[in-house]
Amino acid sequence: MGKPTGFKEFDRKTEPYRNAMDRLVDYKEIYTDHAEDHLTTQGARCMDCGVPFCQSEEGCPVYNLIPEWNDLVYNGRWKEALDRLHKTNNFPEFTGRVCPAPCEGSCVLGFNESPVTIKNIECAIIDKGFENGWVDAMPPQQRSGKSVAVVGSGPAGLAAAAQLNLAGHDVTVYERDDRIGGLLMYGIPNMKLEKDVVDRRVNLLKEEGVKFVVSADVGGTGENAVDVKQLLADNDALLLATGATTPRDLNIPHREGDDVHFAMDFLRKNTKSLLDSNLEDGDYISAKDKSVIVIGGGDTGTDCIGTSLRHGCKSLVNFEIMPKPPADRADDNPWPLWPKIHRVDYGHEEAAARDGQDPRVYSISGKEFVRDEDGKLLGINTVQVDKDFKEIPGSIEFWEADLILLSMGFLGPEHYVSEHLGLDLDQRSNYQADYGKFQTSAAKVFTAGDCRRGQSLVVRAIDEGRLVADEIDNFFNS
Ligand SMILES: Cc1cc2nc3c(=O)[nH]c(=O)nc-3n(C[C@H](O)[C@H](O)[C@H](O)COP(=O)(O)OP(=O)(O)OC[C@H]3O[C@@H](n4cnc5c(N)ncnc54)[C@H](O)[C@@H]3O)c2cc1C
Ligand code: SF4
Repeated sequence: MGKPTGFKEFDRKTEPYRNAMDRLVDYKEIYTDHAEDHLTTQGARCMDCGVPFCQSEEGCPVYNLIPEWNDLVYNGRWKEALDRLHKTNNFPEFTGRVCPAPCEGSCVLGFNESPVTIKNIECAIIDKGFENGWVDAMPPQQRSGKSVAVVGSGPAGLAAAAQLNLAGHDVTVYERDDRIGGLLMYGIPNMKLEKDVVDRRVNLLKEEGVKFVVSADVGGTGENAVDVKQLLADNDALLLATGATTPRDLNIPHREGDDVHFAMDFLRKNTKSLLDSNLEDGDYISAKDKSVIVIGGGDTGTDCIGTSLRHGCKSLVNFEIMPKPPADRADDNPWPLWPKIHRVDYGHEEAAARDGQDPRVYSISGKEFVRDEDGKLLGINTVQVDKDFKEIPGSIEFWEADLILLSMGFLGPEHYVSEHLGLDLDQRSNYQADYGKFQTSAAKVFTAGDCRRGQSLVVRAIDEGRLVADEIDNFFNS
């Protein structure tokens, strides 16, 4: 334990984001540089609990050795902290930036104090590791002669590829998009996770021997189609890590027509255009000078807000069907559960800085899109709902909008790959496979990540990728 009285002496202080108005004029990351002194002080707050809830299943899905690295950082032993970090997490530079940090929700200090700033410390350890050249490619010493095809290059596919390659198996990752990374590349925007951070890790995996094939639509029918049955026949195992890519629609009247888009279409095009041409090709859905309504919250909704603001939208409103969460934990949401409390994410902060108010409106539901006789979008009629989502009579309201973005979650994977293989699905239409086994109903075919568990988090995808790699390795050795 770093400093036995640290948690009494020092208050929690997170690393600040860049000034909200400054960051609205670019797509660079929102974070400020790490300050070493500050972080060692924050590391000193860790109590090295006998039962560290931060690294329990409730706290950290990959069981990061959090108290160990807090102590090492407090003592200035950053390289050893990095070694500990890599033992449980292949990609701490991703989770250190984008994870909502359930570990902090479970930190014992959070019982009656503010939790340790675990996420900041994680990010600083790995960033310092890269700065100092401590993160090297580690190709396996020997090859097993077994080969695995991984379909999908999100965090689940990448973590599985890293672990399988480390075990000596030949791994090829097939990705239908033109860049590797899944939602790390084309979902989460640049300001939350710069894309050279993703490329840097992918390049290390290449150096270690993982092969990547982009623009390869496995099971598809177009010009980039790759025959999934052939892939299965050519390899000793096939891993499906295709994500939960079917968006939930808002099936209310006048849905069809221009200017109502799924959030992922908006975000993907923006990042692609940004990377291809710094947005100069104009090949994206622009929010410039438009009245924008984002329907649905969560990370995706926030990312739509942050991107619309950077385009220079005229106005911005964000509908949430849920009531506003309480400021503190409710009685039925005790520690160490994830605190369901009101949070201000980066996009909300930016909207408040620019427009003088938080863009969120709660307990509201769309009734019908409103269009003129030529089909042009004019706005949306809404109704207020109670906590059971029952409509409140007489609460219909019209909201003007030129652009409406639907960010209401995802319904599971697309099914064209699973249909070719005749895979069983679960009740939520995900690929059926038990957590821990990851074996689908077809021989030699495994699955992991959001396509198996439904829409989730980067850290859970990494966890599933690591575990499915163990299972495939066991399968080869059985
Ligand atoms: C906008 C947005 C923001 C998010 N922000 C956060 C965040 O801040 N923090 C967080 O923890 N989580 C966040 N998430 C959730 C997180 O990104 C996902 O849980 C995670 O990426 C899932 O990883 P995955 O590997 O299972 O799938 P994905 O990342 O979805 O990757 C699946 C990949 O498979 C590819 N694919 C699909 N079918 C085929 C095929 N037939 N052939 C070849 N390739 C195929 C897809 O193109 C995709 O690249 C966010 C999600 C979204 C949509
Ligand atoms: S629960 Fe909090 S205080 Fe306890 S070991 Fe983990 S980070 Fe440190």
